[in-house]
Amino acid sequence: MKRILVNGAGGFIGGHMVTRLKSEGHWVRGVDLKHHEFCPSPADEFIVGDLSDQRVMADVIDGIDEVYQFAADMGGAGYIFTGEHDADVMHNSASINLNTLHFGVKAGVKKFFYSSSACMYPEYNQTDPQNPKCSEESAYPAAPDSEYGWEKLFSERLYLSCMRNYGAQVRIARFHNIFGPEGTWTGGKEKAPAALCRKIAQAPDRGEIEIWGDGLQTRSFLYIDECIEGVRRLVESDFTGPVNIGSEEMVTINHLAEMIMEIAGKKLSIRHIPGPLGVRGRNSDNRLISEKLGWKPSRPLAEGLRKTYDWIQKRVEASREAELATRA
Ligand code: NAD
Repeated sequence: MKRILVNGAGGFIGGHMVTRLKSEGHWVRGVDLKHHEFCPSPADEFIVGDLSDQRVMADVIDGIDEVYQFAADMGGAGYIFTGEHDADVMHNSASINLNTLHFGVKAGVKKFFYSSSACMYPEYNQTDPQNPKCSEESAYPAAPDSEYGWEKLFSERLYLSCMRNYGAQVRIARFHNIFGPEGTWTGGKEKAPAALCRKIAQAPDRGEIEIWGDGLQTRSFLYIDECIEGVRRLVESDFTGPVNIGSEEMVTINHLAEMIMEIAGKKLSIRHIPGPLGVRGRNSDNRLISEKLGWKPSRPLAEGLRKTYDWIQKRVEASREAELATRA
């Protein structure tokens, strides 16, 4: 049994990781700015605190064997590609990572997992929606299309330099659009699968939904259970990374919307409107993870979408009932 710190335990991936680590019998301390919105945390200790504050970090990292670092100032395209949050995103997330390593190394933490993002890949390799290039070695010359991606790249290098200079054990994954239940589904920070599930659940049959851009931009989406499995396998392996953890099932955003409509049993029309988009195409390249871990994500997108739609549909229904109750 290890003593594990999960930074960002009140968030989507961190919340799922706490559940997984507890099911494996570890002692877990979760830290976040807030409690988990959707479920009580099974962590042995849950501390509400700001990890960009050095005093908080020094306290929570004491006596810890391993750190899973998920805390970041982040959201979907509506949050990270508008430019309005750039300074906060860079400052907050970099501070958390600087503190994690500085105080973690001092406290004798044996291993650090860092959640990087496919957003660090260069824009010039992602202009053709049918042929994006996201193999791990294609990261340089660096040219991410957002400050969020630049911070991830900086922090990857920070973890790797602490490994070289201080002997810290480090594992780094580059996540490609993780989705599933118990993630942000409304409020401006939600990502495409959750936003589309919400819009489709809210729309009357034969109604209309809006999609940013022409909907021909491509992405792949990985269901949360496979993300957690990949992280655990990486952490237990002797491979440092960085390595992609993502699905290779690339779809256009229009196709993603059609898949969700089919699950919902609704026929809706799509109106394309201007909005923040990110790169034109992106897909995970799973050759390295297969080679190093002998494993790669394999479940079909439709399966995860069904579970996610059901969860969001229930929340849409509940908020509709709550609204009706306040009006009555
Ligand atoms: P999330 O927003 O649900 O979780 C992040 C959590 O960090 C939030 O609960 C937030 O409150 C917390 N946090 C932010 N600043 C903090 C601070 N100063 N102190 C303490 N807690 C703080 O996001 P997520 O989807 O769970 O993502 C987890 C990690 O994975 C992030 O680092 C993210 O950049 C990375 N990632 C996620 C995806 C994805 O598709 N979800 C893709 C690529 C990378």
